[in-house]
Amino acid sequence: MGNRVVDRVMQIHGGMGYTRESPIERWYREARLWRIYDGTDEIQRLIISRNLIKGNVKLGQFV
Ligand SMILES: Cc1cc2nc3c(=O)[nH]c(=O)nc-3n(C[C@H](O)[C@H](O)[C@H](O)COP(=O)(O)OP(=O)(O)OC[C@H]3O[C@@H](n4cnc5c(N)ncnc54)[C@H](O)[C@@H]3O)c2cc1C
Repeated sequence: MGNRVVDRVMQIHGGMGYTRESPIERWYREARLWRIYDGTDEIQRLIISRNLIKGNVKLGQFV
């Protein structure tokens, strides 16, 4: 969701959003990093699916 939001923000600001004159390009890079460090998307999915299969967590448990 963070990736989608910052992508939309950059789109709204057009070329200006891509330059270093605004903080948007930094937010864009930082948001992308959330999906790499501390467990990539794929590894997070592996962890979540393993916990679901083991019954440690249930879908909607934290809602
Ligand atoms: C800025 C930054 C800060 C970091 N800080 C930390 C930190 O504080 N502590 C720490 O421990 N690590 C840290 N890391 C390391 C980070 O956790 C690793 O980059 C991450 O584990 C991915 O490893 P890798 O880069 O070697 O990619 P690889 O392991 O080579 O993975 C490449 C791609 O293959 C996918 N992939 C790999 N294995 C599988 C699999 N079994 N099934 C499906 N897909 C797979 C990955 O999801 C990824 O998309 C940091 C990385 C960065 C860039």
